[in-house]
Amino acid sequence: MRVAIPDAVDRALCERLDADDPLAAMRERFVLDDGLIYLDGNSLGALPRATAPRIAHLVEHEWGRGLIRSWLDAEWMASPLRVGDKIARLIGARPGEVLVTDTTSVDLFKLLTAALRARPGRPVVLSEDENFPTDLYIPEGVAALLEGRAFRRVARSALIDALDGDVAVLALTHVDYRTGEVHDMEAVTAAAHRAGALTLWDLSHSAGAIAVDLARAGADLAVGCGYKYLNGGPGAPACLFVSAALQNELRNPI
Ligand SMILES: *Cc1c(COP(=O)(O)O)cnc(C)c1O
Repeated sequence: MRVAIPDAVDRALCERLDADDPLAAMRERFVLDDGLIYLDGNSLGALPRATAPRIAHLVEHEWGRGLIRSWLDAEWMASPLRVGDKIARLIGARPGEVLVTDTTSVDLFKLLTAALRARPGRPVVLSEDENFPTDLYIPEGVAALLEGRAFRRVARSALIDALDGDVAVLALTHVDYRTGEVHDMEAVTAAAHRAGALTLWDLSHSAGAIAVDLARAGADLAVGCGYKYLNGGPGAPACLFVSAALQNELRNPI
């Protein structure tokens, strides 16, 4: 839903928008003190009311009683794909394209390494200076580890021009964590594809917060964070997306 915000924002307008908000009732599904306005889902999502009893069941029954049998009986082994398929619905992915596993940083490492190895004639990972610091450190580290590869970072305004025949993968965070600016995923992905590059989208600030449609954008690869807008709790695993078309071509480096 898009709401036109008039020039003058006053309390009455805010109260009217709140009253008309079709998602307002969702607040009841979370443990939030009365009167608290929590705007830090970008850092740690709030606790869903359903979580504590589910965790208690897992610890007391699945682990405590089920022990080793729970790998299969409680579907622990299948959970990376089972939970991945739930997240897939939020980000426009198809069943079997999303895995819940590891951390955002490790998932970035795995996908960037796999993408570079799948494009041996193209030595470069491209990103923008405005990216989240982690998302600059990881490609820098990957490029240093792999023979003959390089990490190229440019200002956002120079990004499209920097897409040349050397670029294997363009790695960007969908929403700018400082400004809230949203990349046009479809247009940027199309530009990368015209240059022969893959795209890797970090959805840490968009999955669970805004509409994301990876299939529509034709995105190749993505990662997302479990403990921010997806409310998985501190230490929750992240997720990674590999489009069905690429799954036979990429190899997990670890
Ligand atoms: C939160 C966040 C990360 C954090 O990754 P961790 O591996 O959980 O530390 C990485 N990238 C972006 C864009 C983030 O917002």
